[in-house]
Amino acid sequence: MFRISEYKKVQSLQEAWELNQKKSTRTAGGMTWLRLRRNPAGTFVDLSGLGLDRIEETEEEIRIGCMVTLRALETSEIMERYTEGAAKAAVCHIIGVQFRNLATVGGSIFGRFGFSDVLTLFLSLDTYVEMYRGNEKTELVPLPEFAAAKPDRDILTRVIIRKEKLHAAYESVRTNASTDFPALTAAGTLLEDGSIRLVIGAKPQRAERVPAAESWKAERAFAERSEETPLLSEETIRAYAEEAKKTVKTGSNMRGSSRYRSALVGVETARILRTLAGAKKPADPEKNAGKGASECGETAGAGEKDRTKNSTLQKEEKGVKA
Ligand SMILES: Cc1cc2nc3c(=O)[nH]c(=O)nc-3n(C[C@H](O)[C@H](O)[C@H](O)COP(=O)(O)OP(=O)(O)OC[C@H]3O[C@@H](n4cnc5c(N)ncnc54)[C@H](O)[C@@H]3O)c2cc1C
Repeated sequence: MFRISEYKKVQSLQEAWELNQKKSTRTAGGMTWLRLRRNPAGTFVDLSGLGLDRIEETEEEIRIGCMVTLRALETSEIMERYTEGAAKAAVCHIIGVQFRNLATVGGSIFGRFGFSDVLTLFLSLDTYVEMYRGNEKTELVPLPEFAAAKPDRDILTRVIIRKEKLHAAYESVRTNASTDFPALTAAGTLLEDGSIRLVIGAKPQRAERVPAAESWKAERAFAERSEETPLLSEETIRAYAEEAKKTVKTGSNMRGSSRYRSALVGVETARILRTLAGAKKPADPEKNAGKGASECGETAGAGEKDRTKNSTLQKEEKGVKA
């Protein structure tokens, strides 16, 4: 059980920051992870009174307050439109609606969890983390830099996406039930200039952008995208997927061996690229690839469906090798 000595609903970021400088203080998001800790907290800082629970859009940015819940992210019209359903696809498998009504974007990003769908999604976008550093000082940190850094005692106030013209895609593989921790996560974006960002997470190490993808390019102009004229040919998609499979380092844990994960890197990269390119999906009636948000649904305990998905993955892996 998680114990606290003092509860403080703060009135300002400065108050939160000052309290948080003490090692025994815990700043809370939705407390869904914090409550699993055994060691007691001195002061427990509640940020819920600071108006940081909104998603706002301007011409240039999408600004997501740290207290925005994963459910709000999932159902946000702004995020749905901007990420073409990828945001919803990233979070809709996390436990269940009640859990997602508690867990926050701030806690998910600050936690830098290796299995994080949320981190995987945001790394595929041009994302910055707004940190309150005390005495009215705030700093914008690029998310790749923030994700690689050790946690500090500052307050994460917002996650900010700089808007680009893009196509987006999200995929994850869960081996037993749809609501398990993922065995692998993947997100991608294709930008107007034809460049591609690919992020792989739950390797089981934390999500990172794939360096090999920095040299990948769409083969047609962004505006020409259609099923008849996809931006990448199937041959190129398979070559890029093979490159990702060879270069992304994976490891083993209870959710999968390194060999299995490397095979998944190939399959998931191909799925992401097909979606980004606007290509027709392979005609397999069992196939669960690239459906983005339509993949979502309350599917806890859908073991049969998940086993079918796994057999489909094996078939697709053969395709990547071919
Ligand atoms: C059983 C279980 C299964 C899960 N499965 C998945 C999954 O499949 N995919 C996935 O992506 N995630 C998964 N998660 C993680 C989940 O989505 C949340 O990211 C996580 O639980 C933290 O959310 P929270 O808002 O409750 O943060 P909290 O538990 O409140 O805090 C987490 C950490 O962040 C710190 N923190 C919180 N907010 C701030 C802030 N504003 N500034 C500074 N520090 C802050 C806290 O002090 C703490 O160290 C799972 C979690 C659990 C418990």
